[in-house]
Amino acid sequence: MLDRNAEAESEQPTQTQQSEKEYVGFATLPNQLHRKSVKKGFDFTLLVAGESGLGKSTLVNSLFLTDLHKDRKLLNAEERISQTVEITKHTVDIEEKGVKLKLTIVDTPGFGDAVNNTACWRPITDYIDQQFEQYFRDESGLNRKNIQDNRVHCCLYFIPPFGHGLHPVDIEFMKALQDKVNVVPLIAKADCLTPFEIKKLKERVREEIDKYGIKIYQFPHCDSDEDEEFKQQDKELKESTPFAVIGSNTVVEARGHRVRGRVYPWGIVEVENPSHCDFVKLRTMLIRTHMHDLKDITSDCHYENYRAQCIQNMTRCEHDKTYTWSQKKVNYE
Ligand code: GDP
Repeated sequence: MLDRNAEAESEQPTQTQQSEKEYVGFATLPNQLHRKSVKKGFDFTLLVAGESGLGKSTLVNSLFLTDLHKDRKLLNAEERISQTVEITKHTVDIEEKGVKLKLTIVDTPGFGDAVNNTACWRPITDYIDQQFEQYFRDESGLNRKNIQDNRVHCCLYFIPPFGHGLHPVDIEFMKALQDKVNVVPLIAKADCLTPFEIKKLKERVREEIDKYGIKIYQFPHCDSDEDEEFKQQDKELKESTPFAVIGSNTVVEARGHRVRGRVYPWGIVEVENPSHCDFVKLRTMLIRTHMHDLKDITSDCHYENYRAQCIQNMTRCEHDKTYTWSQKKVNYE
């Protein structure tokens, strides 16, 4: 005979069954998104600009551990006089722990090389606008499923370590690009300066950025509920701008380790040593912590402004056409 109590107990839902009942399932939404985006892969377009010889190619290679400029042809001084700013694009597919990233580097050889550098940033602003235009067309077209997004998400601008702050061409360049792309200024070849000189140059550059109203990429505000480590990292990133960077394509032996560095008669400069330069901070910001924010600002702010402007121009054209047509009609009648 069945014990009635045991029967009643068996009818009582267990704790797991109870929580299973209350569990609708939307807590898995982040996992679904994660799976979907990993499957789709990621893309990122980075533009590098600054005078030639400031270490742009070396830094990009050091950042992504790829050789993006194998077939680059270096021009002599005479050839560079007549050369205008060129735009070159290199794309590599890189993969890390199953996550695929299509990385596009847009280089700007010839920038700032001419004797007269008036409006030498024009080919660069035109290039950025062309990518917006293409995206706008694709987005307004019939097949919106497989749009190739070539919009530029970030511009690393290399400031020379020599001199006493920004040069006129640096100011003009950043002002011309500030509303089109996220500009991240860098102090190039930081190993040419002592720590004191780097500190002074950074202060000077920050003051001039404020003085001339240049809008560089602003790190988003850190939420108060973030953990302490993240808050500290965020604070250090903000205080370190403009990042003073060093690049190297060679691996050397330092303190018993194989590291990327530059060997001098007086010692070794290590690219990834935070006491030598801000390379790791730049890499962390660009790849590990702020890549998505850079893409969001490109899409929600820079592209949105371009799109609004386009629609406004189109509406104005339509309005003008209708106005001329109705005027003609009045005259005819
Ligand atoms: P780009 O023309 O701006 O792309 O410059 P490159 O990357 O071709 O570098 C030009 C020269 O500067 C090469 O001889 C590099 O080895 C050297 N170089 C690159 N990065 C650094 C750096 O951080 N410090 C120093 N001292 N030299 C560098």
